[in-house]
Amino acid sequence: MAINLDPKDYYRLPWSLTDNAICWLEPTWKCNIYCQGCYRINDPRGHKSLEQIKTELDVFRKFRITDGISIAGGEPLIHPDIVEVVRMVASDGTKPVINTNGVALTEELLMELKQVGAKGFTFHVDSKQQRAHWKDKSEMELCELREQLAEMVHRAGGLSCAFNSTVYDDTLQYVPDLVEWAQKHIDKVHVMVFIAYRAADADGRFDYYAGGEKVEMDEVPYVVEDEVRKEIQSTDIYERLQERFPDFDTAAYLNGTHKPDSFKWLLSGRIGTKDRIYGYVGPRFIEASQALHHLRHGHYLAYTDPKVHRRGKAMLLVSLIDKKLRKVARKYLLAALKNPLRLFKRLHYQSIMMIQPIDVLDDGSQNMCDGCPDMTVLDGKLVWSCRIEEPLQYGCFVQSIPKKNRSLESETAK
Ligand code: SF4
Repeated sequence: MAINLDPKDYYRLPWSLTDNAICWLEPTWKCNIYCQGCYRINDPRGHKSLEQIKTELDVFRKFRITDGISIAGGEPLIHPDIVEVVRMVASDGTKPVINTNGVALTEELLMELKQVGAKGFTFHVDSKQQRAHWKDKSEMELCELREQLAEMVHRAGGLSCAFNSTVYDDTLQYVPDLVEWAQKHIDKVHVMVFIAYRAADADGRFDYYAGGEKVEMDEVPYVVEDEVRKEIQSTDIYERLQERFPDFDTAAYLNGTHKPDSFKWLLSGRIGTKDRIYGYVGPRFIEASQALHHLRHGHYLAYTDPKVHRRGKAMLLVSLIDKKLRKVARKYLLAALKNPLRLFKRLHYQSIMMIQPIDVLDDGSQNMCDGCPDMTVLDGKLVWSCRIEEPLQYGCFVQSIPKKNRSLESETAK
């Protein structure tokens, strides 16, 4: 049975269209590998010019208050001016975080990026990618690569390190193992992100219209019909994690634009060491960190410095207002009473995020992330980065209308 979370038990992240923790910059259309389900396949458009990138940054600055900009793509590290791009993002104090597959990352490039202001890396690594030197590796075999990348970032110091994986029906089973792996590297890995694979119309339920004209969507990779792949939800990932770790809990979320009780983003935070997780923070902890950051800096918090992640003990003070954190503090103190040496070990904070992109509901409405953090720029406007192919191909976002014969079928069945 699918798990049923009550939104009232969690903190709704306060992010909106104009005041958001994150923006999403795509400096290039090109990529150096292929990942299943990606919309950047052999894209002929190449790299954007620095002038074009500056214009896009100006759009963010005009419309959106933000903490950080995810520099994605395509593969951002193959942009010939990536160092300059990072410098441009950082020039007004915005935190640049590079979303990369890591293939083109060298120690030298990493240091250069750090020097011009990069605050962190989010590495996309999963078994559905076609990587030249990691062919046919299983999800867990790829932890060797994850470890190499995490080590490289750790050696440079002062940079946040996150990993994301797209989760498919057949890789869902490995999510708990990956979370276990992340615990073993809690001193170096700050965030794990799991993105539920969504084929917007896996079973061909809809017709599509752009500006009143019917269009064929066969060219758009996320609307392909595929009998093998099955859609999963963020709560499926949550459920898997709770099966393995009965204490696993979440603290905050973003709901859907059309389905208020859908969890488009689920955010969990845990405190522990490589050997032991003491527990999960509650909604008040996230609320306090978002609200206080906004009061102090004028924007919500997206990326935290690794040295903040190392202050797990100081975070326990927030247990004064967060009852779930009180449980963590109690567990930690009891463990320390049994073995006082534990007091000398650093406590780390690690985030686990579960994201569920677009769902098309039965009536054709498109349930997006309310307060979408990953808005990018197209033709001077903010657009959902996950659906940018639609305005590119059809000039506008596409409407999905339930197929007539389907509604007739269901009418007849009644
Ligand atoms: S709406 Fe799309 S682009 Fe925005 S956060 Fe959700 S999945 Fe990402």
